[in-house]
Amino acid sequence: MREAGFDFSRVRALSGSGQQHGSVYWKKGAAAVLRGLRSQHGLGRQLQDCFSVRDCPVWMDSSSGPQCERLQRAAGGADKLADITGSRAYERFTGSQIAKMREGHPREFQDTERISLVSSFAASLFLGAYAAIDYSDGSGMNLLDIRSKKWNEALLEAACPGLDVLLGTPLPSASVLGAVSSYWVRRFGFSEACQVVAFTGDNPASLAGMKLRQGDLAVSAPERQLFSNGVSIGTPLPPARVSQVSLGTSDTVFAWLRHARPALEGHVFVNPVDWRQFMALLCFKNGSLTRERLRNRCADASWERFSAALRQTPLGNHGYIGFYFDVMEITPPAVGVHLFDADDNEVSSVSAQVEVRALVEGQFLSRRLHAERLGYSIIPGTRILATGGASRNKDILQVLSDVFNAPVYTADVSDSACLGSAYRALHGALQQSGVSFFDILKKAPEAQLAATPQPHAPQVYCEMLQRYGRLEEKILQELRP
Ligand code: ADP
Repeated sequence: MREAGFDFSRVRALSGSGQQHGSVYWKKGAAAVLRGLRSQHGLGRQLQDCFSVRDCPVWMDSSSGPQCERLQRAAGGADKLADITGSRAYERFTGSQIAKMREGHPREFQDTERISLVSSFAASLFLGAYAAIDYSDGSGMNLLDIRSKKWNEALLEAACPGLDVLLGTPLPSASVLGAVSSYWVRRFGFSEACQVVAFTGDNPASLAGMKLRQGDLAVSAPERQLFSNGVSIGTPLPPARVSQVSLGTSDTVFAWLRHARPALEGHVFVNPVDWRQFMALLCFKNGSLTRERLRNRCADASWERFSAALRQTPLGNHGYIGFYFDVMEITPPAVGVHLFDADDNEVSSVSAQVEVRALVEGQFLSRRLHAERLGYSIIPGTRILATGGASRNKDILQVLSDVFNAPVYTADVSDSACLGSAYRALHGALQQSGVSFFDILKKAPEAQLAATPQPHAPQVYCEMLQRYGRLEEKILQELRP
């Protein structure tokens, strides 16, 4: 950026995001090095001896099964752990990863003075001091009580006694942590007043990058509160009625939740924009690749024919419902293809057109069912923002709109985590003057309306959603050993 002539002195605030769940282990003495970074040298050279663990676990690590068991036992069961932390135990979540590190590398662990997430690690570099873990990314650790916003003591004890000292106190995601350190001022020409707003996880940052607008947020009078350490926790917002459905290789759903209702599937995090609210995150493995398989089999490998099949079949598909889990699904944990007729009898073949609609309706019924189980509710004014490769397909979006009974918008949100981080930086910097997150987004490019629900959609899909839930349960029961 410097070589491109970017004027760092004009940056008022910065924030960022990091891949969720990864952990960084700072060696004893590292805080002093961070504080005293010299502007003549780069970070790599100065920080190379600051880490007690060289190869840190990232989200792809799934080797912490025994530690997950222990966390769940300490909580009183998987459902209890989900209720406290927003998720049942997951191997990639940081709590079990830290516990495993302590057991597998006791010497290195002993030599650790602080543990950061990837996000708070990056913030620490800018701050020249250890940055707090924010509530939202902290929700991906299986350690934070998402309601009280404090580390859960029983879980800390189960992961590693004394862990609270190593983690520091978590803070709201919009907290201003301080100014950039003198390293950035001298080396890059940042202003001394440039503020560092807490960094968060990539998924929460993406949620903040969604184009919320006035209809989604009824902006209330600013309320300001201060934590005992003087950090502002910002202006609380009333609930936004927007969710994002990403139709990529996998399908993911981010939803803004008013209330947390964690379940054994999916995740509830503290909301990255308004710490009093929550966000849901659900991931479905059988997304575009399954749609492509059926396109090839039922529509001569043509998206146009696939779309035509959707246009030529009625809402509700004469009662046919399909479950297409080509690979083991995450939500719910099921595999195999199951097709039911209007009397709930499993059938093996239907016309190509009916099969296309059974797939797409089934996928969106599943997305809605599981989002609602986490506390998502569709109320008047709800909007869906569709992203990902399949959001190019208007007929797929029409089914999405009908099943959710909400208008669907599309927006080019590539790099939404980056964009969300920029919005969050501005929000953090301006919130003390009463500027809301919505005000920040006023000039953001508008999403385009792509589909609106057909009048009889609610009637069709209300009933179908319940049937879908019953049939899914039946499939899961049959899969159980
Ligand atoms: P990724 O998750 O890998 O970033 P993308 O968001 O780029 O994926 O989406 C790629 C997927 O989009 C492809 O697998 C393809 O099936 C799907 N796709 C592309 N064009 C269409 C279309 N017109 N209709 C439906 N799906 C499409």
